[in-house]
Amino acid sequence: MEHLRETEELRQLIRESVTPFHTVAAVERRLAEAGFAQLALRDSWKLEAGGRYYMKHHGSSIFAFAVGAHYRPGDSFRMAAAHTDFPALRIKPSPEVSREGYRQLNVEVYGGAILNTWLDRPLSVAGRVVLRSGEVFRPEVRLLDVGRPVLTIPNLAIHLNKEVNKGVELNRQTDMEPLAGLCGENAGEERFFLDFLAGELGVPAGDILDFELGLYNTEDSCYVGLGEEFLSAPRLDNVTSVQAVLSAILSPGREEGVNLAAFFDHEEIGSRTKQGAGSNLMNMLVEKILLSLGAGREQFLRGMEDSLLLSVDVGHGLHPNYVKKNDPTNKGILGGGIAVKEAASQSYATDSEAIGIVQQLCESQGLPYQKFVNRSDGTSGSTLGSIASAMLPVRTVDIGVPLLAMHSARELMGAQDQRSLTELVKAYYRIG
Ligand SMILES: [Zn+2]
Repeated sequence: MEHLRETEELRQLIRESVTPFHTVAAVERRLAEAGFAQLALRDSWKLEAGGRYYMKHHGSSIFAFAVGAHYRPGDSFRMAAAHTDFPALRIKPSPEVSREGYRQLNVEVYGGAILNTWLDRPLSVAGRVVLRSGEVFRPEVRLLDVGRPVLTIPNLAIHLNKEVNKGVELNRQTDMEPLAGLCGENAGEERFFLDFLAGELGVPAGDILDFELGLYNTEDSCYVGLGEEFLSAPRLDNVTSVQAVLSAILSPGREEGVNLAAFFDHEEIGSRTKQGAGSNLMNMLVEKILLSLGAGREQFLRGMEDSLLLSVDVGHGLHPNYVKKNDPTNKGILGGGIAVKEAASQSYATDSEAIGIVQQLCESQGLPYQKFVNRSDGTSGSTLGSIASAMLPVRTVDIGVPLLAMHSARELMGAQDQRSLTELVKAYYRIG
């Protein structure tokens, strides 16, 4: 069967996006290849109409923007934001545990992971490691992706827990420690993980100061369904959105104003960090862009009136085995196109004017969309849209592809939906 280009590009980005740091590196590679010029906050910028630029922030967030060829001071911003992080297990400092001949690692849970989906998977290790350097204020930072399965968390046999199919509560401290190997004759040797890291990095173990390392599912994505209607993959939340926003900012945009793509870390833990959508960073960035284009603060404030933010994150698809979990009239069906997410509580940014703009965009491009609202008596979801728009008060709308098994180590989407989402974000940046 012929596969859509957008879905195949998503599959490739998922392979590379094994931590937020690696997602940022993968986004940066594509931006640099396309000729986007790198900027740093500490520099003074000389931006030009028609120019395309990007800026990284603390390694796990990145921003790209394109200035219209006919940009005039006071023009609007069109912004789209997605998050780079995903629920996972993170390795604690001094993680080595030796128990009854086994080597294990002490881990903590990052975000709202469905813990049992991490069991019996081939897991690897990736993230960043900070190394001793000659300069106190500039330790060396290295990205690491071990790339092969080195860890696993085995289930307990059903014979040892006959009640297992009635549901098991997993303890986040004691039940999630992955196996890392066997001690053999080296029982009691305590630095096995540090030594392993040193070997992977080719540095003395004594040079490792600290790390932010996570476990990830090494399985590749695959199409599922008699007609390959679905894509089953790790990290669909939120690489789907990163890929759509990235391919849109790489495509030709409008001639006026500024198009901006923001990729924030820490959405899964509430966004209120320096790399998260709850920081003042986007506000600072927009102002710096405008000042560098010769506009003043007055024009910055004026431009906000006409600006827009698309917050792009996955939505809940309807699960046919649990129909009653859904709102009776606003459901997201896999393959049914983009989900426009609304909530009176503003856990999804809900602004009917901005939603009307997205609907008109979808209709002008012939793209399917569906409105999604949580059940009134159920638990809700939330995302970065409202948080970001409280920091930079512009009209905001929450959209994304509908997903099943959200926050599982392996999630499911409609294989066609990636094209709809990508086409929508492209039209958002392109249409004048
Ligand atoms: Zn998400």
